[in-house]
Amino acid sequence: KSKGKKQAKAANKEIQQAAVLGAGIMGGGIAYQSAVKGTPTVMKDIRQDALQLGLNEAAKILGKGMERGKVDAKTMAATLNNIVPSLEYSAIKDADVVIEAVVENPKVKAAVLKETEQSVAADSIICSNTSTISINSLADALEKPERFCGMHFFNPVHKMPLVEIIRGEKTSDDTIAAVVAFSLKMGKTPIVVNDCPGFLVNRVLFPYFAGFSQLLLDGADFVAVDKVMEKLFGWPMGPAYLLDVVGLDTADHAAGVMADGIPERMQRIQQDPIQSLYQAGRLGQKNAKGFYDFG
Ligand code: NAD
Repeated sequence: KSKGKKQAKAANKEIQQAAVLGAGIMGGGIAYQSAVKGTPTVMKDIRQDALQLGLNEAAKILGKGMERGKVDAKTMAATLNNIVPSLEYSAIKDADVVIEAVVENPKVKAAVLKETEQSVAADSIICSNTSTISINSLADALEKPERFCGMHFFNPVHKMPLVEIIRGEKTSDDTIAAVVAFSLKMGKTPIVVNDCPGFLVNRVLFPYFAGFSQLLLDGADFVAVDKVMEKLFGWPMGPAYLLDVVGLDTADHAAGVMADGIPERMQRIQQDPIQSLYQAGRLGQKNAKGFYDFG
């Protein structure tokens, strides 16, 4: 028994400090989750107002936890204390793991990953939270691609148990083992998948969205479909509502990436209602209008 404990400790010892790049929806959530589970975590962005939003989000989640009696004042203070906001790369120099969660743009990500590798120790691990960009192509930006893998969280990070860990062609077993251990420390359930468009979850989800789009083009009413899937089929929410949560812009982009990456399995639908809503400026919950009106 004590041997097992020692081994677990050894695996965790690897990651005593973390850093998250990007303080947006995902970066803020990842920094909060890392911090609440006891890891001092630098949260770096290029904008002061983004850092403030990330910190506010963490405080909001903790405040709700306190209202429900799930979080005490000590945890609140310790968690906020564990999140170290910064605009400088020098702040991440002692991070054992860095999770990149900046905008979904391959050029920006490649530049950020390069800068990261120059800022951290030779044995630090670097991960990307990308939803759609190939982990193998991002690895090209690094001198040591064996220390790199995908670490794909889901929104909202503090509520969703799953983390997809994406193994690139050059990712080492030690990197995967350390990121699995860190995911568990964060209170998440990791799965390890190979690099492919959509990884696992989106490979399942996007054919479902495509089926939904086809139904709408056939004349179905989205509210009725949502009611069936949610109230009668028992899923937490129907496809239209889920698309509003994901964001129509994000969904449209991911559908395009998957159609390009695996054209034999996924094709773009002509006059896709998801694309039409996106082009009409209806982005979902993020701008309070998607399939549904919010606010
Ligand atoms: P977001 O737009 O909310 O946040 C991006 C943040 O990155 C912004 O605060 C921006 O200021 C910052 N940023 C931009 N350039 C930077 C740089 N060079 N250095 C540091 N920070 C920089 O985006 P998001 O929704 O949080 O998505 C971030 C990543 O997570 C993307 O790769 C996205 O594909 C992925 N992702 C998103 C979701 C989701 O549901 N939103 C889910 C899983 C994964």
